[in-house]
Amino acid sequence: MTSGVDGAAAEPAGSTLAADPLGLRRSYAVETARLVRARLDVSLPLFIVFMGIDVLFERRMPGHESVVVAYAAEIVICLVAFALTRIPRLAEHVTAIATVATSGLALAMVIYSAYVGSPADAVAIGQVCMMTCLAVVLPWGWRAQLVLAGTSFVSFTAALPLLAQTSPSLFALVGMVTGATSSCVAAIFLDRYRFEAFTRAAERSRAYALQEEEAEISTALLHVGQTLSQLVGRSDLLEQVNRLVTGALGCDWSSTFVLDEQADALRFVANVGSREEVRTELEHIDFPLDSLPLFEELRRGHLVEVPDARTQSVVPPDLLLRWEVASMMCVPICRNDRLTGFIASGYRTRTGPFTRKQRRLAIGIAQAVAVGLENERLIRDLRAANRLKSDFVSTMSHELRTPLNVILGYAEMLGEAPGLSAHDTEHLAQGIRRSATELLELVTATLDLGRMESGRDVLRVEPVALAELLHEVELEFEPLSQRAGLTVTWRNDCDSEVVATDRVKLKTIVKNLVGNAIKYTPQGSVDVRVRRDGDDVVLAVADTGIGIDQQDVATIFEMFRQIDGSATRTYGGVGLGLYIVRQLVERLRGRIEVASEPGAGSTFTVRLPLERLAPRATNGREPAAPLAPAATAARSD
Ligand code: ADP
Repeated sequence: MTSGVDGAAAEPAGSTLAADPLGLRRSYAVETARLVRARLDVSLPLFIVFMGIDVLFERRMPGHESVVVAYAAEIVICLVAFALTRIPRLAEHVTAIATVATSGLALAMVIYSAYVGSPADAVAIGQVCMMTCLAVVLPWGWRAQLVLAGTSFVSFTAALPLLAQTSPSLFALVGMVTGATSSCVAAIFLDRYRFEAFTRAAERSRAYALQEEEAEISTALLHVGQTLSQLVGRSDLLEQVNRLVTGALGCDWSSTFVLDEQADALRFVANVGSREEVRTELEHIDFPLDSLPLFEELRRGHLVEVPDARTQSVVPPDLLLRWEVASMMCVPICRNDRLTGFIASGYRTRTGPFTRKQRRLAIGIAQAVAVGLENERLIRDLRAANRLKSDFVSTMSHELRTPLNVILGYAEMLGEAPGLSAHDTEHLAQGIRRSATELLELVTATLDLGRMESGRDVLRVEPVALAELLHEVELEFEPLSQRAGLTVTWRNDCDSEVVATDRVKLKTIVKNLVGNAIKYTPQGSVDVRVRRDGDDVVLAVADTGIGIDQQDVATIFEMFRQIDGSATRTYGGVGLGLYIVRQLVERLRGRIEVASEPGAGSTFTVRLPLERLAPRATNGREPAAPLAPAATAARSD
């Protein structure tokens, strides 16, 4: 059997107060039986003592010698009742035993009185006294009182002809009826008041217990939170979490599973309390998210309780028994409503449900762990960003210094050799121009980036003649393309001559991709092609250059990311080009893909949905502010 409890909506405190009226009735009955027995223990001996005193006097009266026999019968009844109430099996029948015993005593008294012919008034007074005393002393409810009153009244009425009449027998009868009725009414009211008081006391003690439980839970969770915040960033964080769980819940073991987002599977990462063999086995298993019904429940954010591993369906019972799980409770760890892991904790031999307190603690700890893991992730990201920034600063210094050194070198040559020919002067001036352009491009790329990151770069959609744009880029790259052993071909197969898009952004995309293709192709060819595919315009830049390893493809679009980021690398650049390209493609609501093979070359394909872009960008949602002069991140090396 399993049960799901919504992790987010834990049972509200005090909700059990009014719950389970049946349980309340049951404990009231138990308490009543205990009280009846305790009162019988006092009232029966008292009855025997007082009756004994009476017998001492009465046996001397002529014709009343048989009182000893009646007294003996009464003692037997009392002793039998006393003995029966001592039998544990009959504990819940104490009220019935008391009813039968007291009715038996009333009957014995009436029979004796009839036998000796006692006065009816005296007998009636004795019976009424007995009924009212018992109604007050024994908290046994109106039913028991009714049985006693009925027995007393019926036996008295039956014995009336044999009793001595000192006054009209009607008086005695009226007295009996009044006594019987009022004792029953008294029993009803007393029972009701007792039950109300019992309910109030039960509610008070339950509220107190809940308060105490809440305080314990809060203290435990505070401790967990403090410990977790001290542990953030430490490699044994999750192991410590499991230690906290076993300590707080008092269970035998606790394990943590974390989602491997790439494999879409949960992995066992830490444990406390299980045997080494179990741990080793679990370490080698990947649990795909759709492999067990357990994960479905956890993905819904539910706590899953398995009171008995043998009779449940969320995990194959054989597996749980093999991992020495007799009972367990699993709580999801979520980030933005997505399952990122779970904590399982439980017992090796004990079965049965977990307590409300254990469930609350487990949910609280899982929430604290989710926050802890998120903090850890943020710290990791921050550190990575910091590292990238430092790399960037050193790369930038290198990239800025190289063209500056070239410029300074050429300038020095110009200054120190006044008799240079016009041809040589032109050559040096060209070198200065090229290096200055490189510098400008580098600074522009950095500015582009700054603008994009600050959100100041708005879309400016306008009719763009594709052929013209391509031609412009072709001309700009002409000096670079004329390198020995490199062929660059440009093809425009697009039937839509004019498309609505952001010209500057599209040009930046093309220039970055072509610039990279030329840069990373020492020898071979670069093929730039634009074509139409349905509603999309597709730009493909293919080269036969150095290519990219499959494992690096995922990271090259990240900021400052270079496959070879070392200071001694062969190719220049700062690792911003592709990041800028991806951002711009996304702004134009397109997609970029890369296919590459190391040593064989790469193809970058950009797909832009032109139809959709035009109406959206011009309907006023994006303010049409002019962009800064043509931005480009393409660099030559
Ligand atoms: P960079 O300024 O280093 O060129 P990019 O963001 O443009 O930065 O590219 C990131 C990395 O991707 C480069 O450092 C390079 O390793 C790789 N890369 C980009 N384009 C190509 C290509 N056409 N061929 C091979 N590698 C490439």
